[in-house]
Amino acid sequence: MQICVLGSGSSGNATYVETEHAKILIDAGLPFRVIAARLAELGVLADQIDAIILTHAHIDHIRSVGTFERNFGTPVFAPPETRKVTMEKLGDYPWNFYQLEEKLNDLEIVSFPVPHGDRRSAGRPLNFILISKGARYAHITDLGTHTPEMLELVRGAECIHVEANYEESIVASKLRDPAHAEEWAYLEWVASSRGHLSNTQCSEFLSMVATQDTRHVFLAHLSENHTQPGKDNNSFRIARRQVTRHLKNFGLKPEIHRTYRRGATEGRKSDAVRI
Ligand SMILES: [Zn+2]
Ligand SMILES: [Zn+2]
Repeated sequence: MQICVLGSGSSGNATYVETEHAKILIDAGLPFRVIAARLAELGVLADQIDAIILTHAHIDHIRSVGTFERNFGTPVFAPPETRKVTMEKLGDYPWNFYQLEEKLNDLEIVSFPVPHGDRRSAGRPLNFILISKGARYAHITDLGTHTPEMLELVRGAECIHVEANYEESIVASKLRDPAHAEEWAYLEWVASSRGHLSNTQCSEFLSMVATQDTRHVFLAHLSENHTQPGKDNNSFRIARRQVTRHLKNFGLKPEIHRTYRRGATEGRKSDAVRI
């Protein structure tokens, strides 16, 4: 299985996963031209995508789903609640929604609910384990807190994509600083159990699920690279340092890969990982 995070963060999320007989996207939240260009760098045409599976219906995860529908009639897999919100937000397209299947060609898909957002804006958020030829890829993002079920499913996956959205000390200081009063409601949501994982929560989660079999970790949905640097709540450097230090205590040294947010710079796709 090959995995490449085409883009990650509040300005757009899309991850490409390829097996011998399946080419899929998890989310299509970047502008369509960006997704198409980054797929082309991998030698893949957008019309070759067999399916899009959706984590949830926040706009940074669904932005270009309608364009895929209009151009190629790409099948989109999502639960009814996510489907409904996606259609409300994006409007009139020739939708090809399906209930998520457990198998797409040679790719096995295990989905499980995660706490994030509310039904009205997010639908029914899911995260995924994708399995092919015995190798497991865990796609964990946009969750305020991990669940016992998730720990069980993710443990020992060869590659784990997990959000490290914010550095607690940065958000805590903004919540004390009246200069950031306009962001307080948003930051309180981010730090809540229905928001995003912090660097510390990400490190703790990884220490519970990573094993010696876990060779690759993508740090995802990082709050960085905003056009106004004061909006950054994290940086890859800080997140990687914390995760690396924490995992070292458990004798674990997976390769930590960066994912990129579009913003002040265009960003770019991540390393392509094979498991
Ligand atoms: Zn998101
Ligand atoms: Zn979200």
